[in-house]
Amino acid sequence: MGKKLVWFRQDLRIHDNPALYQASQDGEVIGVFIEARKQRQQHHEAEAKVGFIYDSLIELRKELNALGIPLDILSCDYFEDQVELLCEIIKENNVDDIYFNNEYPLNETKRDAALEAKLKECGVGVQRFHGDLALEPGLVKNKQGEPYKVFTPYKKAWIEKHKTAPIEPLPKPNKQNHELTEQVTSEFAQEYRNDLWSAGENAAYEKLESFLNDVDLYKDKRDIPSVAGTSMLSAHLAIGAISAKQCIHALLRHYEGDEAKLYGDTWFSELVWREFYRQLLIDNPRLAKHEAYNLDAKEIWTGGQDLFEAWKQGQTGFPIIDAAMRQLNQTGWMHNRLRMNAAMFLNKLCLVDWRWGERYFMETLIDGDFASNNGGWQWCSSTGADSAPYFRIMSPLSQSKRFDANGDFIRKYVPELKELDKKSIHEPSKAQRESLGYPEPIIDYKEARKKALELLA
Ligand SMILES: Cc1cc2nc3c(=O)[nH]c(=O)nc-3n(C[C@H](O)[C@H](O)[C@H](O)COP(=O)(O)OP(=O)(O)OC[C@H]3O[C@@H](n4cnc5c(N)ncnc54)[C@H](O)[C@@H]3O)c2cc1C
Repeated sequence: MGKKLVWFRQDLRIHDNPALYQASQDGEVIGVFIEARKQRQQHHEAEAKVGFIYDSLIELRKELNALGIPLDILSCDYFEDQVELLCEIIKENNVDDIYFNNEYPLNETKRDAALEAKLKECGVGVQRFHGDLALEPGLVKNKQGEPYKVFTPYKKAWIEKHKTAPIEPLPKPNKQNHELTEQVTSEFAQEYRNDLWSAGENAAYEKLESFLNDVDLYKDKRDIPSVAGTSMLSAHLAIGAISAKQCIHALLRHYEGDEAKLYGDTWFSELVWREFYRQLLIDNPRLAKHEAYNLDAKEIWTGGQDLFEAWKQGQTGFPIIDAAMRQLNQTGWMHNRLRMNAAMFLNKLCLVDWRWGERYFMETLIDGDFASNNGGWQWCSSTGADSAPYFRIMSPLSQSKRFDANGDFIRKYVPELKELDKKSIHEPSKAQRESLGYPEPIIDYKEARKKALELLA
């Protein structure tokens, strides 16, 4: 009998990995990961994310090897090259089935369809699974059998489905009784803040467990950027070092199986937002072409390169926005409250095309994830499926006073302002700016807000 090839992609884990699990039930497993360098650049994914993937693969290989499964780590340029390489591996290793978990953005789905067609022609079995969402795509539909466009009814229906088909993560595969073959490693390590993100599945579980100890505080702490009030699991979830299913299952365990508590939990809701954005992308592949979800959305983006550059560099003269952007530039991550503030500042107050911001986030975020990033940007620019109403424009000053009352977060990332008192740190005077070398605001907030409302109404 031929070998079973597991193609790892965005599922760098041994537990709750449907493709890996099924392959291990069917025969002798060999694993491969193929980094498509130029393709990833075309998708604007951050070097930090690539570095995190590379280290996570090294950890994954250790886990797989302990089960007697080899993992080749290869690289090429584009998705087409991945297909070629897979065909070679299949031939060389006498593989009779390939197994992988689906990815949902457009180029990925096209590549997978091409591979499937090609392999089927030569008699190789293609076994595809869903490992990224907690509930299989397409399960949550309205009474007319159509996909939801609004989050709250989607979440309600999601819960109903979950009640009837509770989710149980898969175990890791059994150990294989085959000798480990030699493994190839193509090196593509990149720098990232490995003091903040530890690679590998075990590190992700540890983070999850320690977060669950404090999950009851999440509701109150999650909007305060100066405290570690959120799970920081996004980078792990984005590359599949842990699954959404595992997170939800662990949360249910935390509540000792009490489903009412699970469904009422705020963190659970965020994980369902992740599912919602993925489902939107699956149902609307045109989102991957950066089209606005709402086809009638007004294109009001007249803001230029100068505003965009100041925003990117954290030099807008609005301390909370600058702190947010500098957090992103220095760590590869930004707090959710600040992602909303920074995005709305760029698109509604500076009138810079939301797609520019979407791309910059992808280029810098260690957790860059097409569906969630696109969903977040379209929410903020009111072009999305269930977005903020057009008149919702977060004021950088009021948000700063509300969520960073003492200015602790600003002090950390905008150190030139650190000596200012807790009142003026949110809005330094002209004289303070001059003496501290901090820029004047790049826009007049009141004017900008008025203009945005006129344009969007
Ligand atoms: C403009 C904008 C861009 C964003 N870009 C990304 C992105 O590229 N990648 C990404 O993972 N998230 C993105 N988000 C969502 C959210 O900001 C991050 O998931 C969150 O800040 C990650 O921190 P955490 O892991 O501590 O989250 P927690 O608050 O602990 O939430 C747990 C998990 O739920 C998911 N989640 C939380 N909030 C959201 C949300 N609003 N939408 C979708 N999923 C969510 C994430 O997987 C997260 O890890 C974006 C939000 C906005 C407003």
